[in-house]
Amino acid sequence: MSVLAVALGGAVAILLGVVFRRAASTAGELGALADALPSATASRSHAIVCRTLRVYFIKPSKYDDVGRVQWFWKGVLPNNTLTVLAALNDTYNELRRDQGVYLETVIWDEQVDGPILPATIRAMQEKALEDGVEVIIGLAGVQTNQYPRGRDLALQFRRAGFPVLFGGFHVSGHPETRAFLEDCGITTVVGEAETIWCELLDDYLGDRLRPSYSVTDGIRAKTGSGEITVPIITGAQLPAISDPYLHRFASSTMTTLDTSRGCPFTCSYCSVKNVMGRTMRARDPEAVVRWIRDAGDHHGIRSLFIVDDDFFRSPTWEPILEGMAAYRRDGHELSFMMQVDAEAAAFGERAPGEPPSSQRRKSERFLELAAAAGCYSAFVGFETFNPQNLLAATKVQNLEKEQRRGKDETSDRALTAWRSTAAT
Ligand code: SF4
Repeated sequence: MSVLAVALGGAVAILLGVVFRRAASTAGELGALADALPSATASRSHAIVCRTLRVYFIKPSKYDDVGRVQWFWKGVLPNNTLTVLAALNDTYNELRRDQGVYLETVIWDEQVDGPILPATIRAMQEKALEDGVEVIIGLAGVQTNQYPRGRDLALQFRRAGFPVLFGGFHVSGHPETRAFLEDCGITTVVGEAETIWCELLDDYLGDRLRPSYSVTDGIRAKTGSGEITVPIITGAQLPAISDPYLHRFASSTMTTLDTSRGCPFTCSYCSVKNVMGRTMRARDPEAVVRWIRDAGDHHGIRSLFIVDDDFFRSPTWEPILEGMAAYRRDGHELSFMMQVDAEAAAFGERAPGEPPSSQRRKSERFLELAAAAGCYSAFVGFETFNPQNLLAATKVQNLEKEQRRGKDETSDRALTAWRSTAAT
């Protein structure tokens, strides 16, 4: 493992070195050009010396039972938060193209890139000095089981003098954690970043970074106990596909995609309803299908994990599945897995002559299209079959099916239904 680790680390370092050198030389060329021009010409040409900000999006791993950082030679699933954030940087570069600001993006997923050590932090500092760039650290998508590792990294980066951002489900749902991190000089980011990111970067570049950011531009959505503001994501940038990142996983032809966010249900143990709200929001389905086609044609993507917490509740599953099915009919290889609730496939036998209900027609249409679009696996949460426990957990969507003695027909349609303790 250690030899492989060194080799992998070396490969990443070489790759990053190439990326960094390219950006640094571009900035240097702009500066040299400005110096060489006569002053009158320079004022007419508006030459801009680029201020480069290297953004590290870091997904912390977690500690194992004896306190070691877990990491693996190859991962299973790329992290969707990292690729979405990388796409937001691309958007920022487009927006600020003429303003002398350039963002470099470095993705560091501890599960596959290895632990960030004190020596790694020193190397980041030295490399930034050598390249003449500024650095900002973003601990991204940190879940509760990753929080201890994320917190320790954030504190180490702060002690080394880096500006540090901290986002994800844990800080978004736990005010006490936010207060602690903010006391330590760490900026917390609550909720989804789409409508926050541009303002946050502008604030950093203007030397006015705040202790905390949360979504203010969006719609109001109910949670389990109140309301939050969540962004409209219809036109939001789709995840950036990083081929080097995908090669750190068992299958480099598989990636993740979120087409919708939120969940209408209120399972007591789940934080999705509180962080993303109960109002379903979806990306533009045409843009999603274009992205899937582009991913296949230009990045060799053959398989997707649609990470929507409940794809069956997405307002746009139908046009997306139709688009995927059409792509397959064109002769392209495509398969996917998804997370859905039990109602996507649970319906009983119809009595002779009984007309199908609208709910049943919707479920049947969903299953037919999912199979045509290449679905081979669906995660469905069956945490308990005990009606009293379902009631106690307010998982009423499963309770109703229990009472009706519904039949799960998912497997009849060549899909595999996974019993899950976490999903949907
Ligand atoms: S467990 Fe699943 S169905 Fe329940 S609230 Fe969370 S995402 Fe929704």
